[in-house]
Amino acid sequence: MPYNKYKGVVNATQAKEIYAQAKLQNMAIPAINVVNTESINAVLAEAKRRDMPVILQFSHGGAKHFGGKSSDDSLDTAVTGAVAGARYIHYISKIYKVPVILHTDHANKKLLPWIDRLLIEGEKYFKHTSRPLFTSHMLDLSAETLQHNLELSAEYFAKFSKINMGIEIELGITGGEEDGIDNSSIDNSLLYTQPEDVFEAYRRLCKIGDNFTIAASFGNVHGVYKPGNVKLSPNILKNCQKYIKEQLGLSSDSAVDFVFHGGSGSEISSIKEAISYGVVKMNIDTDTQWAFWSGVNKFQKQNRDKLQSQIGNDDGADKPNKAYYDPRVWLDCGAVSLSQRVGQAYDDLKL
Ligand SMILES: [Zn+2]
Repeated sequence: MPYNKYKGVVNATQAKEIYAQAKLQNMAIPAINVVNTESINAVLAEAKRRDMPVILQFSHGGAKHFGGKSSDDSLDTAVTGAVAGARYIHYISKIYKVPVILHTDHANKKLLPWIDRLLIEGEKYFKHTSRPLFTSHMLDLSAETLQHNLELSAEYFAKFSKINMGIEIELGITGGEEDGIDNSSIDNSLLYTQPEDVFEAYRRLCKIGDNFTIAASFGNVHGVYKPGNVKLSPNILKNCQKYIKEQLGLSSDSAVDFVFHGGSGSEISSIKEAISYGVVKMNIDTDTQWAFWSGVNKFQKQNRDKLQSQIGNDDGADKPNKAYYDPRVWLDCGAVSLSQRVGQAYDDLKL
């Protein structure tokens, strides 16, 4: 792809260019939640194999996991983990030679102190390198009133823009449960965004800059549920684009860069339909979590006798098992399986 002139973590202007290119080619870029170097490397390996851009993102919980036991303070750990993970990705992605959009996932109002601290870290990084540490942050203020959501989002976007960082905002609510936020029992009507709300967000954010994406819910749910339980209506995105085009007299049929949350377990037809209405980023977490685990699980099932003690297996009581319980071996099985799932995402995310 032509935008692969970028190697490594891109800034918001470059990300916008990548999204524009994706739209031209009727595709979206997979956004994978990563939690450790294994998952980062596995996603980058597939992006490199396909010579494609990729989005790597840390949730607050994922960042905390990356930070390990570095502090007793949960916020400190989530900041340390996000910064350490981001710096690792900056370094390694240049070697993998693919463009990476580096992002943080859902930050609700309670998590704004995390974003505040990451912004300070981002500003320090920018001072030394003229590049942002993260390409973009997501603010999920969908539980607030629309006015409050947009006021706060605009305020943050203005600050992000100074260091060429973008913003993703959420309108409507993504159902289901992820990262400890449980929206599984909310009123169903909140899962479907109104075109007027998207227009209002678009209008206000455009005054600050171009580098924003909107996660407008159209029945999306985090997690994977029994088929038929999730009713996606990508048509909502089409109506939003049409409304904005009419209101502002634009020539484009897809002025808004939309984000598809809860991509795991979704029907291919809904994914493709959503892409045709301007989705440029699809988040995948639950399915890649499962992919990593199923790779490890398959290995342990195939080698069960060799994974019960350090010495002794079906081939003999004195046979050593080190080559099987070495974490590099079974973590690699998880990583290969994760890479394959990312490959499937690239296949699914084009029309
Ligand atoms: Zn989400």
